[in-house]
Amino acid sequence: MGPEGNGNTNAVGETDVLEPRVPDGNVLDVLGLRKTYESEGVPVRALRGVDFVMEPGEFVAVMGPSGCGKSTLLNLVAGLDTPTDGEISVAGESLVGKDENDLARMRRRHIGIVFQFFNLLEGMSVLENVTLPAIIAGMPRRQAETRARDLLDLLGLADKARNAPGVLSGGQRQRLAIARALANKPTLVLADEPTGALDSAGGLEVLELFRRLHAGGQAILMVTHDQKVADAAGRIVRMRDGRIDDGTEEDMSVTITESITSTTWEP
Ligand code: ADP
Repeated sequence: MGPEGNGNTNAVGETDVLEPRVPDGNVLDVLGLRKTYESEGVPVRALRGVDFVMEPGEFVAVMGPSGCGKSTLLNLVAGLDTPTDGEISVAGESLVGKDENDLARMRRRHIGIVFQFFNLLEGMSVLENVTLPAIIAGMPRRQAETRARDLLDLLGLADKARNAPGVLSGGQRQRLAIARALANKPTLVLADEPTGALDSAGGLEVLELFRRLHAGGQAILMVTHDQKVADAAGRIVRMRDGRIDDGTEEDMSVTITESITSTTWEP
């Protein structure tokens, strides 16, 4: 099995169109990741040493309160920002030290991004929204259009192909954004609060679609602060104050508090 796929390229129908790019090793390796922003001369430690691995086909939700560093982690994995320290590899290829062009090339090859507020191209048709990323990545127009039509069909948007995104409901708009994210057969789909701007029906539509993609082997890393949304994932990773919260620090603070309490109050 090569790095380009899982060998089912001759299959027809859903398995072929939604078939993800599956690497031989891990989808994602994050090691000792730190990000410090400067805000009015004051350092803001958004990530304070994050270690994190994703295997092929995993659907992981990163949860945590506002400001704990979830979006920072996602942006770094997407290569949209550069870390202060640490390593990030997608499909075994390191993002660290790459210039803008190389990062853009890696993103086109490996990453599909779904944002909270869709980021659709409103002046273009639904079909063009999905076709464009594949054309930018070098796919011939006809092939890109065929793939885009297949994706829209599978995502229940085939009859809207010629429309502007403006006619779509919230749930449909996010499904379109997901179709666009899948245009290049990404190794990893990144989603930042993908249901955050939707009503509950639209949110369910999107989560159902993620479950379906996950069942087809697509690796997904989703950021959310909503437990109900996170429950759709196969694994939940919790963050707190720029770190993965594996419970050990809390246990330690309980022990320290207990020992202080007992020293202070025991006769
Ligand atoms: P979350 O997604 O969990 O809400 P973020 O990753 O957006 O958290 O933010 C983590 C911390 O980094 C917060 O304290 C936030 O204010 C700060 N931060 C995020 N982006 C920037 C930036 N561009 N400049 C300065 N501080 C930032």
